[in-house]
Formats: sequence, structure tokens, C-alpha cells
Amino acid sequence: MGHEWIPGADPRAVLREVFGYEVFRPLQREIIEHVVGGGDAFVLMPTGGGKSLCYQVPALVRPGTAVVVSPLISLMKDQVDALVANGVAAAFYNSSMEESEARRTLARLHAGELDLLYVAPERLMTDSFLARLRTLPLALFAVDEAHCVSQWGHDFRPEYIALGRLRELFPGVPLIALTATADETTRADVIEKLGLRGAALFAGGFDRPNIRFTVVAKSAPAEQLLAFLRARRGDSGIVYCLSRKRTEDVAARLTTAGIAAAAYHAGLPAAERTRVQEAFLRDEIEVVVATVAFGMGIDKPDVRFVVHHDMPKNIEGYYQEIGRAGRDGMPAEALLLFGMQDVVTAHRLVESGSDPVQVRVEQHKLSAMVAFAESLTCRRRALLAYFGEMLGHDCGNCDVCLDPPERYDGTEHARKALSCVYRVGQRFGARYIVDVLRGAGTARIRELGHDRLSTYGIGADLSADAWLSVIRQLVHGGFLRQDIAEYSVLKLTAAASALLRGERRLDLAVHRAAVRPHPAKQARLTADGRAVDDALFGRLRALRRRLADEQGVPAYVVFSDATLAAMAAVRPQTADELLRVSGVGRVKLARYGAAFLAALTGGG
Ligand code: ADP
Ligand code: ZN
Repeated sequence: MGHEWIPGADPRAVLREVFGYEVFRPLQREIIEHVVGGGDAFVLMPTGGGKSLCYQVPALVRPGTAVVVSPLISLMKDQVDALVANGVAAAFYNSSMEESEARRTLARLHAGELDLLYVAPERLMTDSFLARLRTLPLALFAVDEAHCVSQWGHDFRPEYIALGRLRELFPGVPLIALTATADETTRADVIEKLGLRGAALFAGGFDRPNIRFTVVAKSAPAEQLLAFLRARRGDSGIVYCLSRKRTEDVAARLTTAGIAAAAYHAGLPAAERTRVQEAFLRDEIEVVVATVAFGMGIDKPDVRFVVHHDMPKNIEGYYQEIGRAGRDGMPAEALLLFGMQDVVTAHRLVESGSDPVQVRVEQHKLSAMVAFAESLTCRRRALLAYFGEMLGHDCGNCDVCLDPPERYDGTEHARKALSCVYRVGQRFGARYIVDVLRGAGTARIRELGHDRLSTYGIGADLSADAWLSVIRQLVHGGFLRQDIAEYSVLKLTAAASALLRGERRLDLAVHRAAVRPHPAKQARLTADGRAVDDALFGRLRALRRRLADEQGVPAYVVFSDATLAAMAAVRPQTADELLRVSGVGRVKLARYGAAFLAALTGGG
């Protein structure tokens, strides 16, 4: 079949005709043009940012086959299913295949019939396979989840190391490496290991504006969770717990309450894990209750919510887990149940580590997580600040923005705190600063002579908790920086000087401990904010489910939630109108158009 109807080699036309999307997401166009032009690229984008199209479109535009390296066999199959549904000649080659199927795939590869071939790294890097590839025209190499090549990343895979030879072995073929892992050390290491020093770097912002952040005080978690889930029946979601035992308890309780839930953790037999994963993809399970082991192999774009039943140990993990919600760009929710007991447990867990350096790093990461949960300013600003990104405004889509705490002119308090940080030489953490401000008579303060500072005891009017809150707000607002590599010592940023010189004022939130019991459900909206007819959306979902089951593919391979929502908002009545809906390309129109038009025009 191939893609004979692609008009020329225009990425925009491929986006529209094959994938049915009207516009590129941020950075996609630049990356695609660069790779189509033959350049190497290193792509850093958050989960759900749209990395796949960055190599799939060039794969279709450039002559030859694109070879995509992917770490997980389950992901490969899903990606290939989704491409085939769009009429793209794609296949995978890995150890899960029957001998005959493998031979057929290789034959298609040699006949030049494949636009994309997904392959596991250990297969790709065998001498025989490399020799094969050298005789064939190749469009590009794409290394997905590229952080797996680095020992510094959170998911090192030894078989990725060999990929370092690709750049030398195929000098004329562009190589694009993609990851969602932000941290500098890992990034530099990946570039080094893959020989990508000459590659263009494309780093997208880390914000996921469609995810609503909510933190609630954990009082009665079982009831809180049920109330939240009952208001969201029919939506897919993940509930993360810290222990295997708890995932099983919670899943059992939800099942008793009539919710299609299942537990997932690394201690379950492989067959059970596969069953849960597949049933979730097919929307037969609504809620997976999991430890962090769940997610890496899940490419489901329509996960509508992620709940943290227990607080994660660090912001990196938290952000990666909530990143699994709303990859389709539709409104999604991240709910964190935050309890003081969790903080104590987490501290104990971290402190039981044997490597003192590791323990120290983890303690500081944990403190940052707690600070986020206790934040009184926009949570998105707090999160992005942690990743070194400054959002210039409040987000309007987190619990703090939606139900803001009372505010006051905090200029005086801010200045006191900042000058105290300065006076102690920017060498101390938050608790010490608070002690100095409140004039605590500790031996350490006296030894260091800090009881003679002008800022000693100037803050006796606020409680220690209230001062900690002021300091957190200054960190989240970008006036103070907390150096995690250096005992979370507080340092002034450039932004602090205007405040210290009295050239600007600053509003702060009044410290408040309590948070609301649980968030209300949002109205269903399309990705561009139009209201969706819920009943029609439900009928379209049922139709999608039927078609997907007939073909044995996950529901989203037929159409994503975003596409169904757009249909339910716009109500197209003709094939041409349906084609204009985002996510409807030529092949899907031919395959599913009639069935969906019948449902949309009331005939189905
Ligand atoms: P990532 O690999 O970065 O996590 P994906 O490539 O899986 O993200 O893309 C996430 C979702 O966004 C998918 O459902 C994809 O089809 C959709 N998507 C990607 N690019 C676009 C676009 N330009 N317009 C609309 N939807 C897009
Ligand atoms: Zn906000």
C-alpha cells in the first residue's frame, strides 16, 4: 500500500493528509525541517509534547526507511498499530515475533516497502543486521527514550550503550535522539554517548498547561479517592501508591465499589501485568492502581487523571507520573493527597539508605517535594521554577490559582528574609534563616556570631511556619534559589536585588495550613476550549470501542479522545467537514468516516 497519495515532500501536507492535524505543535516544524534537511537533532520535550511526529513526518518525507530504536516491545507494537491505522507502512522487528513473521518483515524491508521499522537496540546492533542496513537506503535513525543510554538517567539500559556506534557507521544518515528527561548531566552524557556533538539541540518548555494540579490534605483517603473517582466514571486514570500492598488494597476497595480497577506492581506475574496493561489500553479497566513500575510502557494518550494516593519522593518522579495524563492535549487532572504522616514515612525511607551522599541528595529532593505540596503560590510556577523555567504569570489552572489564599503586602517580610540570607553569607538553609530571623538562642547561632547580625530577631512577629512559608514563596517566585547539590543552601537571585533596594513591592499569601477536601470535576472541553456534548461524546466513544475491538487494537488507535471531543463539539455532517476535524486523515476517513458520520447525523 505505501503512501502514494502524499502530495510531494511537504511536511505540512504529511501532517494534514496522514495524521489529520492542522498545525504543528511548538518546535515540531523546526525539528522536522532540520531532520528532513539531513541534520542530526537532540530533542528534549515533555511527555505528551508530540515527539513521535518529529521523526515520523521526516520518515515519510525523506526517501528510504526510517529505523526507530525503542526500548519497550509493548510500546513498539502500539506505535506501529497507530501508524498502520493512518495508512503508513510501518512494522517492528524484535524478539517477540514468530520466525515466519520476522522473515516477512525483513523481506518488506529489503523490497523498500517500509517507511518505518521499529527495532530493539540489541537486535539493531548485531553485525548481521547492521550489514543488512548498509545495503539499504535509510531515511533516518531515531533513538526514542534516549536517556536510557546514560547511567545518570533514571532508566539506564546497558543495551543502549552499543548505539554509540551508529553515528560512525552511517555517516550520511541523520540521527535524531529524543527524551523527556531534563537534567543537565544526563543530557550532556546522552549527547556524548551517541556521538551527537554536532547535533542541533531542541529543548521544549516543560509546562503541560492542560493538566490541572490539585493538592488536598489527606484526611480519609479511601473516601476522598472514591468521591473523586465517582465524579469521573468512564474516564481512564492511574492511582499511584508507594507500596505494592497498598495498590492491592486500594484496587480491591474500588472494585467492591463497582469501579473497574486493577492493581499493578513489579511483584505481579508478567502475564497479569500484561493483562492489566492491555485491558487498560482497551478501556476495559478504568483505573489502574499502581506503584511507579507502571507507566513507562504506557503510551495511552487519553489518561484523564493521575492521583497520588501517597506523596512521591521527589518532584522529578511526581512530574513524570502526572505527565502520563492528558497527552492528547485535552483537559486532565493531577491530584495529590498530601498527609504529614507520608512526609515522616518518606523521610525514614530516605534516611535508611546506605550511601550518605545519596541520602543527602534524596533528603533535599524530598524537601522540595514537600515545599511544592505546601505551596501557597501558583503550583505550576513552583514546579517549573524547580526545573529552572520561569513562568511569567500565574497559571489559572491549579488549586491555588482557582481558590487563592488571602494575600497581603509582604514586601517587608520578603526584605527581612532576603537580607538575612545575605547577612549569613548565602551559606545556610531555610530553617537556620528562620531561627536567625526569630532570634532563636541556639548554640550554633552564637558560635557563628549570627546573634550580632542586624537581622537577628527582626522577625519575632511571625511563627516559624509562617516564615518558612514566606521563604518558600520567595523560592517559588524566583527571588531565592535553593541549591540541592549544596545542602539546599539559600542563595539570592538577580531578581532579589530590586526588592532589597526597595525598588519594588511584593504580595505574599497569608500562611494557611488547610486545603479543600476534593476538587470538582471540570466540564469536558475540546483542546481549543469548546464545549462538548457529553451524550454525543459517549455515543462516539462506544462506537470507537466497538470498531477497536473488532480490529483488536486499543481504542485510541481508531481516534483519540481529543478527536472525538472535537467531533462532538463541531458535529460535522459531511465527509469534507469530518476531514477538517483534527486527527482525521485520509485513511481514517476512508476506514471509519461512514460509521462516525452515521452516529453524528443521528443515523447510528
Ligand atoms: P510524546 O512521545 O512526546 O510523549 P506523542 O508523540 O505520543 O508524545 O504525542 C502525544 C499526543 O499528541 C498523541 O496523541 C499525538 O497524536 C498528539 N499530537 C502530536 N502532534 C500533534 C499535532 N501537531 N496536533 C495535534 N495532535 C498532536
Ligand atoms: Zn496556578
